[in-house]
Amino acid sequence: MKGQPMHALSFDVEEFFQVANLRDCFAREEWDEVPSRLDIGMEQILGLLERRGIHATFFFLGWIAERHPKWVRRCVEAGHEVASHGYEHSFLWDIETPEALHRDLERTEDALRAAGAPTPRGFRASTFTLTRSTFWAFDVLIERGYLYDSSIHPIRHPVYGVPEFDPGISRVRRDGGELVEFPVSTWPFLGRNLPMGGGGYFRLLPGWVTRAAVRSLERRGRPVALYLHPWEFDPDQPRQPTSALTRFRHTVGLGRTLARLDRLIERFRFGSMEEVLRSRGDLPPG
Ligand SMILES: [Zn+2]
Repeated sequence: MKGQPMHALSFDVEEFFQVANLRDCFAREEWDEVPSRLDIGMEQILGLLERRGIHATFFFLGWIAERHPKWVRRCVEAGHEVASHGYEHSFLWDIETPEALHRDLERTEDALRAAGAPTPRGFRASTFTLTRSTFWAFDVLIERGYLYDSSIHPIRHPVYGVPEFDPGISRVRRDGGELVEFPVSTWPFLGRNLPMGGGGYFRLLPGWVTRAAVRSLERRGRPVALYLHPWEFDPDQPRQPTSALTRFRHTVGLGRTLARLDRLIERFRFGSMEEVLRSRGDLPPG
């Protein structure tokens, strides 16, 4: 394992009812009324990482950190990296202004620190909403001292995505400074960047496709950034009255996420986002 290149494993810590896909089923005002199912996924994830002896990055919503500080604390105690997923899963284009994003990030940083984590150095926007129209978010992140971002999805997609963005690790230079962009992984195939870094794709694609994609990116010297959510380890979550396609995307393969991730960890070397960036010299040693 030692000489192998390291890939990044990350989890966006949010409840099943906060997922963009299910927005129409759960109004923001009702979130506090819905019974939490966070423990189910978090127990399995932390258990797996402990058994395998590896670290990962947990991008917490501030809303979650305020209500479930024990999970922030347990992640810190286990040596994982705690990073920011924004306060309440708002899309960046709905946050609208740099001032409002400052407030959102500050509230999240406060919640993470109050739960026992250091000030976060990494950020991932809700639902890859860092696109050309919201590039101003980079300025806010740089101003607040963030060292890296993982919000860009370099694919063609009707809602999000920056298809021409460097799909590997790169530096984003802005007037006020710079930070590192570590996008979730895509696999160049037939001239297009296909998503493979997580979510429904990870659960839908056969395991051998994911492994082939990781090997192919490894050969290009490009570390993979995988992202999963606690609710993806919870096959018994209540089903919602949505369209058949939405339900399929949300629930496909939920029962095999843990086994599939375990097999991937067995074959490849994984660490937190920060560990991968530091090991390559993209961030100064911590
Ligand atoms: Zn999210």
